[in-house]
Order: sequence, then C-alpha cells, then structure tokens
Amino acid sequence: MEIIDEPNARRRRGLLVVLSSPSGAGKSTISRMLLASDPEVTMSVSATTRAKRPGERDDVDYHFVNDAQFDQMVADGEFVEWAPVFGHHYGTPKAPVKAALKAGRDILFDIDWQGTQQLQAAMGEDLVTIFILPPSMAELERRLHTRGTDSEEVIASRMDRASSEISHWPEYQYVLVNRDTAECLSEVRSIVAAERLKRTRQIGLVTFVRELVSGN
Ligand code: 5GP
Repeated sequence: MEIIDEPNARRRRGLLVVLSSPSGAGKSTISRMLLASDPEVTMSVSATTRAKRPGERDDVDYHFVNDAQFDQMVADGEFVEWAPVFGHHYGTPKAPVKAALKAGRDILFDIDWQGTQQLQAAMGEDLVTIFILPPSMAELERRLHTRGTDSEEVIASRMDRASSEISHWPEYQYVLVNRDTAECLSEVRSIVAAERLKRTRQIGLVTFVRELVSGN
C-alpha cells in the first residue's frame, strides 16, 4: 500500500480557495494567518496597476505593474482572470495556478466577486469559494479607519463599494461573519480540511481501496 507513504500533496487534487469580502472585513489578516499555519497553502500573487501602499512589497503582496504592462499581460493571455476594481486593474497570473494544481498544492486567492465568477467558469470543480461579511457596516468603517492605509476619500469610496460587493454573497459556497479573527480563521481552516477530504479530490483512493480489499 505505497499510497500511504506518498507525500500528502500527491494524493489529492489541489484546492483553489477564494476569499472575498468588502475591504476591511478582515480577509487579509485571515489569509496571512492561514498561510502561516498551513504549509500546503500558497498565496496567489496578483498583478495590479494601483500604487504600492506603505509596507507592501513588490512580488510578495502584488506584482506592481503600469497600465501598459498590464495590458500586455492581458494580450499575452497571462491571466486566468482579471477585473477593474476601484479604478485600477487587478489580475491573477495563470502559470502559478497551473503549477500548484499539478503539484497537488492548494492556492489561496484574495480576489473580488468579478474574479471569482471568472475562476468559476475557468476551473469550477477545483474551486472553494468563501465570502467574509463584516459584523456591521459601522464596524467595517471603523476597521478601514484603524488600518490607517487609506485617505478619507478612498475610505468613502470603499464604503460605497462595500454594499455592492456584499450583494454578491449568495454566489459563494461558504459565508462567514467575521466577529472575531481567531474564530473566523478556525472556520476557514475547517472548510479547507473538509474540502480536502472530498472523495473526488482524493485521487489516490482508488488504488488504496483496491489494495485494501485485496489484502496487499
Ligand atoms: P486592495 O487594493 O485593497 O489590495 O484590493 C482591492 C480589491 O481587489 C480586493 O477586494 C481584492 O480582493 C481585489 N483583488 C485583488 N487582487 C485581485 C485579482 O487578481 N483579481 C480580482 N478580480 N480582484 C482582485
């Protein structure tokens, strides 16, 4: 039964886990904590035309590109999805997604509802979609202020967009309310754990069960 000794990553298909929420609902913190605590998950690094915020690192938080570079990447078919968000362009590079799936690793995407719809169309069966809601709009606004990375004007436009983003919650498989970061992280981890155990994702099972019943 050699399948038992194989590294876990080769026994199952990788998951594509999408986390969406209005900005400020806590998804970046949850993503960071999930990545730090689960070595099988890697983050999809998007390309964006928006300016780098203080503390952000190029090729770690985003691939920061200009409009011409972004347009070229679109023309070259380098994105699995891309969309305009807050007046800038954001896109998910295709190559790392393909490589991770092939290796049986899981990828985490911090993308909006437009990108989620496109990923659903491109690779539906491997997708696990999670929407994170804030406990209230007042709390969302408070978190955007505490974050201290955006101007008043940007915060006001993010609040305007929040209700329209929230209207897409029924398109997601899982919906969480982030009242407490640790609790929300634990819910995300439970979802990931259960999804990994789905029969259709455990590609080594056929061989394992055949050998199990034949007594080899
Ligand atoms: P921020 O500028 O605050 O980092 O992100 C703004 C919004 O863009 C967030 O809702 C985030 O989920 C979304 N976003 C980030 N990367 C991508 C991407 O590659 N594709 C799409 N469709 N949305 C993205």
